[in-house]
Amino acid sequence: MMTNKEKITLITSFLDELFPNVGCELHYQKDYELVIAVMLSAQTTDKSVNQVTDVLFKKYQTLDELDNAPLEDIENIIKSIGLYQNKAKNLKGIVHKLIHVFNYVVPADKDLLMTLPGVGNKTAGVIRAEIFKIPEFPVDTHVERIAKRLSLASPNDTPLEVEMKLKKKFPKERWIKSHHQFIHFGRYFCKAQKPNCQSCKIKNICKNA
Ligand code: SF4
Repeated sequence: MMTNKEKITLITSFLDELFPNVGCELHYQKDYELVIAVMLSAQTTDKSVNQVTDVLFKKYQTLDELDNAPLEDIENIIKSIGLYQNKAKNLKGIVHKLIHVFNYVVPADKDLLMTLPGVGNKTAGVIRAEIFKIPEFPVDTHVERIAKRLSLASPNDTPLEVEMKLKKKFPKERWIKSHHQFIHFGRYFCKAQKPNCQSCKIKNICKNA
């Protein structure tokens, strides 16, 4: 029987081999642009978000410009992504609050971040990890699926419960890297449909194999 430590070592070694250098795939230059991009990425791909933010952030280059931008124009620019009307409203709300409540500075505090429209626990975790390098292990659909396949969490666990379990099992200094590696593993190797089990080096600990 493998210990938890041995299991985690096996997983991290394989993920290091597959994805030694991974990071956030969303395009952004300013902190607030990341906040907006992560909010927009809910239930859609990073690639489709990049396509719209490349246009949006070029047209509106400051928080004030975004604040003054007509809602209809923002909707028009982001309309190729899902839930765009709601996301356009959230975008305006985020910009307004960053200007008028947070004095143009993205806060690092999770509770404060979660007061921004469209920013929940996962989004706040991504922002904290990416901008402030604060150890976080945000759980998206890929992270949740892999954690459950590898029995790092129970089948009925909520994303928050999965996050708590992963944070307990993985060393803190690995949280951010492992989060990115899980996402890449889920996108390109252990896909929801047709995972690449044949060449998977951790199939002996996977209940899906
Ligand atoms: S064995 Fe298959 S399902 Fe399990 S982790 Fe590997 S690729 Fe994913």
